[in-house]
Amino acid sequence: QPDVMDKLVSLCKRRGFIFQSSEIYGGTGSVWDYGPLGVELKKNVKDRWWHAMVRMRDDIEGLDAAILMHPRVWEASGHVAGFVDPLVDCKTCRGRFRADKLEDARCLQKPSKRPGEAEQCQLTEPRQFNLMFKTFMGALEDSASVVYLRPETAQGIYVDYKLVLESTRQKIPFGIAQIGKAFRNEITPGNFIFRTREFEQMEMQFFVDPDGDHMQWFEYWKAERMRWHHALGLADARLHFHQHTAEELAHYARAAFDIQFDFGGTLGFQEIEGVHHRGDFDLTRHQEYSGKKLEYFDQPTNRRFVPYVIETSVGADRVTLATLVNAYREEEVPGEQEGRVVLGLLPAIAPIKAGVFPLVKKDGMPETAHRLADDLRRHFPVFYDDSGAIGRRYRRQDEVGTPFCLTIDGQTAEDGTVTVRDRDTLQQDRIAMDRVREVIGARLEA
Ligand code: ATP
Repeated sequence: QPDVMDKLVSLCKRRGFIFQSSEIYGGTGSVWDYGPLGVELKKNVKDRWWHAMVRMRDDIEGLDAAILMHPRVWEASGHVAGFVDPLVDCKTCRGRFRADKLEDARCLQKPSKRPGEAEQCQLTEPRQFNLMFKTFMGALEDSASVVYLRPETAQGIYVDYKLVLESTRQKIPFGIAQIGKAFRNEITPGNFIFRTREFEQMEMQFFVDPDGDHMQWFEYWKAERMRWHHALGLADARLHFHQHTAEELAHYARAAFDIQFDFGGTLGFQEIEGVHHRGDFDLTRHQEYSGKKLEYFDQPTNRRFVPYVIETSVGADRVTLATLVNAYREEEVPGEQEGRVVLGLLPAIAPIKAGVFPLVKKDGMPETAHRLADDLRRHFPVFYDDSGAIGRRYRRQDEVGTPFCLTIDGQTAEDGTVTVRDRDTLQQDRIAMDRVREVIGARLEA
C-alpha cells in the first residue's frame, strides 16, 4: 500500500482534523489536538464502538472510571515493576531509543550499518525506563502522594468489577466496557497519531467461568471485533490477525491475537487492537493487594471462583488514523483537468454528512439553501457554503469526506427539487427537497 502519511498530516492540519498540540510554542512531543472535523470523526468512531459494545447488548455494562487511581492499583497490575522499556542513548546522534528497536537510531540508518557495528554509533548500556507518567496528589511533593496517570483504562474495570456486578445483578458471562484517556511516556512515539503519549482507549473486559467454554468466548470476541473493523469500512485486504508468539505473550496470558491494519509505506501492518485471554491474573492480583474478595458466586452450581477475563482493547486514535489512511485517495475526474483528493469515509463516520449549496447568490437560492441546511442540521452535521464556483465547493467537501452535496438551483423554485451529488460515484440525482432527510438518513445507517 502507498505511504499517504505525509499527505494526511498536511490535509488534517489544513482542513481542521488534527493539529500538533501547543503548536504556537513549537509543539509538544507526540501529543495532538483534534480540530473541528477531527473531533467529529473520532467521536463517531467512539460512538460506533459504544453502540456495538454496550447499547446493543444486554450482557455488557458501561463504565467511566477516573484517570487517577490508588497507587497500589499499579503495583497489583504489575505496571510499577514491569511496564518498562529497555532504553539506550546514542552519544553520536544524541537520540534515545528502545534497545529492542535499534533500527530507529538515526546514525544507524545509513546503508550497511547494523546496530552496534557502525563506528560512529556509541550506545550506552540499556536502562529500564518506566512508561508511566507520575504526578503528585495533594499539596506536598513527597513520595507518599505520588500517583500515576493511568497507562490503560482496564484497571478501572477490574477494580470496579464487584461494584458493577452487585449494582446491575449481571450473571457470568458478562462484560464491562469503557472509553477513556490513557497516558504512556513512550520512548519512540511517532507516525502522527499512531503512537502518542496521550491517547484514548476503548476497552472491554468479559468475565467468564474458568471451568466453562472460555476458549469459545475468546474465539467469539476475536471474530466479533474483526467484524466491527470491517463494518467501519476498513478494507478486507488491509486487515489481518497476528497471533502473539511465545515471546510476545505475557506470562499470565493464555492466548493473544492482535488485529493489524496495513498503514501502507514502511509502517505496513501494525496493531490497532488486542484481543487477550488474561486468565484470572488481574482479579487474583487485586484480591491479593486489596485484601477484598473478588470471587463470583455461581448460584446454579453453588461454586465460588475468580472469573477468567477475555479482553478487547483498541485505540480510538489508532482506529481513527486507520479510517483516514484507508479513505485517502487521489483520482482523475472524467472530463476535468484537475484531479481530486477524496476521503472515502464510511458515511456514518464522516464528520459532515451533507454540503448545502445555493448555485448562485441570488434569486432566493441562498434563503432556500439556508432553510434546508437548518432543517437538516437537527438530524446530522451539515455545512452551508456559497463561496466560489460550484466545482470548487464539491472538491472542498470531497477532501473532508462529506458523502453528499445538495445544490439548490433555478429548478428548485419551480418544482421543489434539489440535486444530490454522491461523493464516490459523482452521480447527480434530482430529488424532492422534503425527501432529502429521509434519503440521506437511510444511507447513513449503512
Ligand atoms: P504497542 O505495542 O503498539 O505499543 P501495546 O501492545 O502496548 O501497543 P496495548 O497495551 O495492548 O498496546 O494497548 C491496546 C491498544 O491501545 C493498542 O492496540 C493501540 O490501539 C492503543 N495504544 C497503545 N499505546 C498507544 C499509544 N502510545 N498511542 C496510541 N494508541 C496506543
